[in-house]
Amino acid sequence: MEKIPFNKPYIIGKELYYIAQAVQNGHLSGDGLFTRKCNQWLEEHFGAKKVLLTHSCTAALEMAAILCDIRPGDEFIVPSYTFVSTVNAFVLRGGVPVFVDIRPDTLNIDEKQIEAAITPKTRVIVPVHYAGVGCDMDTIMEIAKRHRLLVVEDAAQGVCAAYKDKYLGTIGNLGCYSFHETKNFISGEGGALVVNDERFFDRAEIIREKGTNRSQFFRGMVDKYTWVDIGSSYLPSEMVAAFLYAQLEESGKITEKRLSIWNEYHRRLEPMEKAGKLRRPVSPEKCGHNAHMYYILLRDLKERTALIDFLKARDILPVFHYVPLHSAPKGLELCGKKYSLPVTEEYADRLLRLPCYYELTPEQVDFICRSIAEFAS
Ligand SMILES: *Cc1c(COP(=O)(O)O)cnc(C)c1O
Repeated sequence: MEKIPFNKPYIIGKELYYIAQAVQNGHLSGDGLFTRKCNQWLEEHFGAKKVLLTHSCTAALEMAAILCDIRPGDEFIVPSYTFVSTVNAFVLRGGVPVFVDIRPDTLNIDEKQIEAAITPKTRVIVPVHYAGVGCDMDTIMEIAKRHRLLVVEDAAQGVCAAYKDKYLGTIGNLGCYSFHETKNFISGEGGALVVNDERFFDRAEIIREKGTNRSQFFRGMVDKYTWVDIGSSYLPSEMVAAFLYAQLEESGKITEKRLSIWNEYHRRLEPMEKAGKLRRPVSPEKCGHNAHMYYILLRDLKERTALIDFLKARDILPVFHYVPLHSAPKGLELCGKKYSLPVTEEYADRLLRLPCYYELTPEQVDFICRSIAEFAS
């Protein structure tokens, strides 16, 4: 059997054809026809008020931090079990992270611990929808409203997933998506900012266009464009948007395939969970997930390392996930050693992500599950 990588980028349909079209359109920089098509597709399918394509989720998070007007010393509440960009985007503005532990079931921020972390300096709550499973957004939005805080959803992994009757990313004041090659819908690098709060509509466009009112100029609202605010270049090229549009058109097919892989893992690993050998992911009913990730929890670091070695010897490449940010060198420099986040620390050592990508075959899933069973016995 050939090697089974953790992730593999793929072509679903018209990606290369659309890239050729973008070249023929004579507009390869940002904000051409394919960027508009992607923005519109995301707005229509997710019921979002405004979506702006970016070159990464990191860029969308940076835009969000600027829109929230984060000033040096402002605090933001965030899980420590997340990707660096969730935190870096706000730290770049001088923000200070206040880390909150995660729930043992979904591994999302523990909403019951948020209120105790609020101080007079708190400005924003940044929930991360881990594995495309929604955080408890009802509680988070209620806390934010009561304390007059903004909410920025890191929905990098949650594209096409929902919480109750709303798509992830469309619930907070702002939402951030990723189309990185390891996510569900891909363009190599890519992302989008979802603007749900109308107060941010104009400024979001300006920040994304290097601090100029270029977008208003193109709509004929001003007669020349000029420098009006801080900003940067957060636009993707039309080549990226063209690739992404082909993937969005086939999003149903992609999600269906990922769900079938996810469900097969879940079914096959159930007996091992019942036998106390491992724990499977938990996805509450109200959080319709998007099969972004299939992970298992082992007993401890030693057992996880042994399983990784066992699977690698069979050319299967599973990977663990985040080093908690509060215990990383930069986190320690910013916050010192004050944090003790027991669930985050324990689960970071126990979690293992299994291969999950569009072209993974049922035979490969079968081989992976059989191998895990062999290891467990
Ligand atoms: C992937 C990811 C990001 C970063 O996305 P990029 O598009 O690579 O910038 C941010 N946050 C989370 C939770 C992610 O999984």
